[in-house]
Amino acid sequence: MITPVMPTYARYELSLERGEGVYVYGTDGRRYLDFAAGIAVDSLGHCHPSLVDALKKQAETLWHVSNLYNIPGQERMAERLVANTFADAVFFNNSGGEAVEMGFKMMRKYHAANGQPERFRVISVEGAFHGRSLACIAAGNQEKHTAGFGPLVDGFDQVAFGNLNEMRGAITRETAGIVIEPVQGEGGIRPVDPDYMKAMREIADEFGLLLMFDEVQSGVGRTGKLYAHEHSGVAPDILASAKGLGGGFPVGATLATEKVAAAMTAGSHGSTFGGNPLAMAVGNAVLDVVLADGFLDQVNEIAAYLDAQMNDLVSRHDGILSGVRGVGLIKGLKCRKEGQNGDLVKACIAEGLLSVPAGDNVMRLVPPLIITNEHVDEAIGMLDSACLAVAGKAG
Ligand SMILES: *Cc1c(COP(=O)(O)O)cnc(C)c1O
Repeated sequence: MITPVMPTYARYELSLERGEGVYVYGTDGRRYLDFAAGIAVDSLGHCHPSLVDALKKQAETLWHVSNLYNIPGQERMAERLVANTFADAVFFNNSGGEAVEMGFKMMRKYHAANGQPERFRVISVEGAFHGRSLACIAAGNQEKHTAGFGPLVDGFDQVAFGNLNEMRGAITRETAGIVIEPVQGEGGIRPVDPDYMKAMREIADEFGLLLMFDEVQSGVGRTGKLYAHEHSGVAPDILASAKGLGGGFPVGATLATEKVAAAMTAGSHGSTFGGNPLAMAVGNAVLDVVLADGFLDQVNEIAAYLDAQMNDLVSRHDGILSGVRGVGLIKGLKCRKEGQNGDLVKACIAEGLLSVPAGDNVMRLVPPLIITNEHVDEAIGMLDSACLAVAGKAG
């Protein structure tokens, strides 16, 4: 018989009931060090005092009003994102998929508004993950996400990751833009080379295409910059943000330059919940912390320590691990044998450490941005034991 909760997830035998800082507590009475962070969502850990405070205050003031009215918290959050990024305007939504989907709509609208409605196709790269809406799975183009959901939304072309010739070759008079994650998350923690980022910008400019960065996972301080693309010095025309932006409260945002945003006239797009007072209170509280002087420096410091410890871990367990991937606090451990990433995640749960599998046989570590060296040491200790357990099973 089917469970009341639709069986779309293969869930671990673990129920979590409470969180505090970088730890979560299971109904089994055990404490877990949370390097999964709700898949890069709990950017400031669990129940961060200033987020709790902001949420409580707003809960007693005003939860929701329609976007038919001005929402001061939304104006404030938009102004802050504009002041701290390439963007000139922001639209708030509730999830990563929505933020990306809106980006696709904006690409079409921009070209239509500029007299080229025939330009609607979007180029994505292999291994991409852009969310689960019909357009997003068409862009991601992964069999495990598209099977049974055909026909796929028209207008998406995929090229090999890192192959600029193929990207150029895929451009036609119908191409509207390019979408890419500056650090591929689900695809296996694969950072895009800065030179490749620059070349994509040049290609986009040469052919009049819009460049969109999906920073749903890599954004909001995760890589040590507010957004990961800043490492390359290349700016997009459109950016999708979500996951860490609300620190656990559903907040998504689509950011754009003025030339793109100008096409989104009144009535062209909307969201009932997007940017409501409750979401904006928490979102602004996240920005208070992430934009504070020195916060990102701290992220970079702890990330360097984690990276060094992970590299040592790989050298101690090179029978099952082949390398470290990632930037800042979006890290991956590449496993040697197919499926060992999943085994390692399970072995870590047994040790008391939460992590997330990713594609390309990678085990992903996306801890809260507030971890300390002690948390890293604790995680590495549990990873050592987990690696021994997995190696023992394999040997
Ligand atoms: C998680 C993710 C999404 C989808 O976000 P949802 O909030 O699940 O809709 C899109 N793109 C990237 C890069 C992601 O990591």
